Formats: sequence, C-alpha cells, structure tokens
Amino acid sequence: MNLGIPRALLYYDHFPLWRTLLETLGFEVTVSPPTNKAILDLGVSLAPDEACLPVKICYGHLAAVRNVAALFLPRMVSEKAGTFLCPKLIGLPDMVRPSLDGELISPVVDLRKGRKGLIRQLACCLGTGYKQVQGALAEAEEAQRQFLRRMQQDKLTPQEAMSGQNSCRRGKLTLGLLGHPYLVYDSFLNMNILSFLQRRDLFPLTAQMLPSEKIQRCAQQLPKKLFWSLEAQIMGAGIAFLEEKVAGIIHLSSFGCGPDAMIGELMNLRARSSGVPLLELNLDEQTGQAGVETRLEAFLDMLQRRCPA
Ligand code: SF4
Repeated sequence: MNLGIPRALLYYDHFPLWRTLLETLGFEVTVSPPTNKAILDLGVSLAPDEACLPVKICYGHLAAVRNVAALFLPRMVSEKAGTFLCPKLIGLPDMVRPSLDGELISPVVDLRKGRKGLIRQLACCLGTGYKQVQGALAEAEEAQRQFLRRMQQDKLTPQEAMSGQNSCRRGKLTLGLLGHPYLVYDSFLNMNILSFLQRRDLFPLTAQMLPSEKIQRCAQQLPKKLFWSLEAQIMGAGIAFLEEKVAGIIHLSSFGCGPDAMIGELMNLRARSSGVPLLELNLDEQTGQAGVETRLEAFLDMLQRRCPA
C-alpha cells in the first residue's frame, strides 16, 4: 500500500521518523514535490482565507500527491509532557479532510499519554499489530536520532541530512536564521533565503544546526515556560544565537500566525538588549521577491558596516 506524505509543515522535523516507520511496516511512501507556484495556488484556493501561509501550502501539497492509496497526516498534539503544538496543527486533519477525495490516515501523536499510547494509535490507524509497530517505531526513532545528529554535527539543513549530502557552507559572517522549519527550509516560500545569504558569503546558522541540549538550556532562561513546543525551540535557538555572538538575526514569520507574533516580540526585546540587530520578515502569499531582497540587502549592508571583514 502506497501512502502519501505532504512536503509541508512538520515534514522538515519528522520525515525520517515516519518514512522509516512506514517502510519498516511494509508501506511505500510517496512525498509531494517541492513547493511551487501551482502548489501554492492550489493551497490558497482550497484553504480557508484565515489560515496561515504554511497551512495553506499544506493543503496544496496534500492535493498534489498523486497515485497513493491514502494520505498520512498525523494529528500532532504534544511531543513532550507539559507542551502542545499550535492549535492549527492539532486540528489540521479535521480542517483538510473536507478538501480531500481519498482516505486520510491520522494517528494521534500525544506523548503526554506515553509511548504505549502512541504505539496503540499507530497500530489501530495502520491496521497492524502492536508488536510490529513497537519494533518499527524503535527503528524509526533511531533513524530520527541519526537525522538530528547529522544536522547538528555537520551543520546541515534537513534536506541535506535526508539526502546524505554534505555541506560546504562557510561565510565571513554568521547570521542566525530563526523561524519555523517550514518557513526556514521551504525555499519557494522563503524566496530561497539560504542561497541568497550564501551568495553574499554569509553563513546562516539555524536552530537545527545547534545541539538540542543547548536550545533547551537557553529556553529555560525565559521568565515563563512556553507551552508551545515549537515556539520554545525557536526562542531557545534565538537566545543560543545571541550566546554564539551572531552578527545579526533574521526571523522568518508567517502572516496570520499567533505564536509568531508573540515570539517575534519576545525575540526583538532579547536581541535589542544584547545589541544584536534583528530583521523580521513576515511572509504571506502576496509577498514579492523584490521587496524581500531589498529589505535583506539593506539589513546586510548595515551588518557589514558594523562588522567590517
Ligand atoms: S505555528 Fe503559526 S505558522 Fe505554524 S501552523 Fe500554527 S499558526 Fe501556522
């Protein structure tokens, strides 16, 4: 049986885990193509107007997966005790279901209920036995650990780590590139910001390239614990960038994202009190490449004047 996975949202965080789990259980996996204009337009036409850009893009990716028996889109509730994902991610399977023709498989991932609860969910949704899922999940978790290790040790993007590529990324200045992975690594959505920075001899450091323990330690510096796990990771990475003495920070945020609005403000205050310039680029489906590049050029000129080589 062939299952389709959208190359959107938590794909950049969890794809090695789900691919290994499904393939070990005997499923084939098909991923939608990289985001393009047709996928964006499809997503915008299918999604409610008030959805954030990454959710709209996910609608487009789900519709773009072809020749599969079903789509696989877990309902991501909580990855760790005491934390939650954004309500739009929790409700995503219900939001997208009316726009789909085929079957949608959505196991609930709620690790507040423990690993056994997850195994039972997966076995029930995938129609397999508990023991089979238990074994496949152990392999999948190992694949996921290796994926995270590669990104952190070799300073790779998720795409490079997944494809076994190496990176020769260097630069005369290091910039922190902050934001949800689906904004930072979707080159269509962010107008290829990683390449843009590299062409200017800058090294874009991202949260996924930092040790997880460091991010957690930095997130604990916040006066109040953030219960949104992705946003706690972004804030932790932002504080870690300041400790790493980056020349500046670029924060990619999404129009219509409540969590981004809050952490954007918190990060701005932190960066200002450390004297590190921060540029926030808010992306939506109307954002034009020329406007983004003009703001980036002005920000980079300012950084280069502050930190001459
Ligand atoms: S965190 Fe923000 S960008 Fe991500 S799904 Fe939720 S609202 Fe959308």
